[in-house]
Amino acid sequence: MLVYSAGTGSGCGERGYSRGERWVIPMQDWLKDRIYSSAVTPSLYGSEAVLAGWMQDIRNLGGIAFIQLRDRQGTVQLTVIKKENKELFKQLTALNRESVVAVKGLVKENREAPGGVEVLPRAVEVLSAAAAPLPMGVVDKVGVELDTRLNNRFMDLRRPETAAVFRIRASMLKGMRLLLEREGFIEVHTPKIVATATEGGTALFPVQYFERKAFLNQSPQLFKQIMMATGFDRVYEIGPAFRAELHDTVRHLNEFTSIDIEMAFTDEEGAMGVLERCLQSAVKLVLEERPKELGLLGLHLEEPALPFKRLTYAKCVEIAGSKGIAVEWGQDLEMDACKAVAEETGGFYFITRWPSALKPFYAHPFEDNPKESRSFDLMYGEKEITSGAQRVHEYELLVSRLREQGLDPASFESYLQAFRYGMPPHAGWGLGAERTVMILTGRENVREAVLFPRDRRRLSP
Ligand code: ATP
Ligand code: MN
Repeated sequence: MLVYSAGTGSGCGERGYSRGERWVIPMQDWLKDRIYSSAVTPSLYGSEAVLAGWMQDIRNLGGIAFIQLRDRQGTVQLTVIKKENKELFKQLTALNRESVVAVKGLVKENREAPGGVEVLPRAVEVLSAAAAPLPMGVVDKVGVELDTRLNNRFMDLRRPETAAVFRIRASMLKGMRLLLEREGFIEVHTPKIVATATEGGTALFPVQYFERKAFLNQSPQLFKQIMMATGFDRVYEIGPAFRAELHDTVRHLNEFTSIDIEMAFTDEEGAMGVLERCLQSAVKLVLEERPKELGLLGLHLEEPALPFKRLTYAKCVEIAGSKGIAVEWGQDLEMDACKAVAEETGGFYFITRWPSALKPFYAHPFEDNPKESRSFDLMYGEKEITSGAQRVHEYELLVSRLREQGLDPASFESYLQAFRYGMPPHAGWGLGAERTVMILTGRENVREAVLFPRDRRRLSP
């Protein structure tokens, strides 16, 4: 049981009293009875309720004032009548919009109020008076630039549409975790400060690590593979990945959340199966937990049917070619080629059997045709959301793959070490959380899918 101790010098009670308001009721009393606006229903007519939140709209008509009080669940109308309590009326109507108050009042039916109900406050505590003017509107219908929204993200997140994206994000991740846990995956966390690049790429942020130079990790790839040598044969990690992407696009962040799995004793098909079930589970939970948010965003989400379509890279080259987009075998599939393929498929689909040279050194080549690899991308329309593969688990092959890609095996020594003493075959993938949120919420810019985006120009908030 949680016990609030009074008079410890910290905590809510102390803060409530220090306002010095005559009519203040100690905050701990308010808190224990607080309900959300969504709970103000006809069953409460005639009884008292305690609510707390932001005053998003204040309409003072002289003798009566209508206040829309917003909390996490929605809004409720406070109707304040001057002649019933002059002091309280003055106190509330003098406040600026977005001030935070707690009220205790009588719940009444009112057909004219939004939601058909109102609360007549009998006691109020001003918890935080808002300054004016606001840096951006919360309820105003005027459009606000994304930059302004991101500069004032705390305020932007008060808007139900913005909040909806992050509630959907939470349910999406929960849906994925549920599936992974159900299928026997163990959650792990690997270091984000590392000595070498995962793929030897240039997209690394250097950090000063005492006397040495280190980097922020761009992917948990090497660590989750090392885990396959430990006996933890199914692991997942949900954590940050850092990439010094120079280009400024609507799909790239410099810090994103990567959902990674690695599983032993299986091949790329095994990993693809987990991935499609993961996405299905995510969508299912979003539908179950967030119908209100989906409605608010005007989205019609459907549970995807399994299995997802699988197209080989070679087939994609052919489809693109048939639509006048020439791609030579071995070239990457650019946006226009992917768009051409997406026209044929719609929704989620896999692109398999990528040329080995296009994929990282750890992608396993096909035994009978080493030019192609046991790799796959999961696509939605023309957007890539996941890359995965069966990995090279044979030590000798791994060393030669590193060399082929111009990397020095010596700088991968602590990774290679795990392949010398018993490493089972394994496969896995990395899924970008923000790109997936973008798709599920129909957003155009990946920055909308992360609370505080990091991009080339943005380092705060
Ligand atoms: P792209 O070619 O689109 O830049 P990638 O192939 O370099 O992506 P991977 O290394 O395959 O990316 O990473 C796996 C997944 O992580 C991607 O499919 C994507 O969903 C996500 N991801 C990668 N880089 C970023 C980024 N900079 N911002 C947001 N998500 C990213
Ligand atoms: Mn990729």
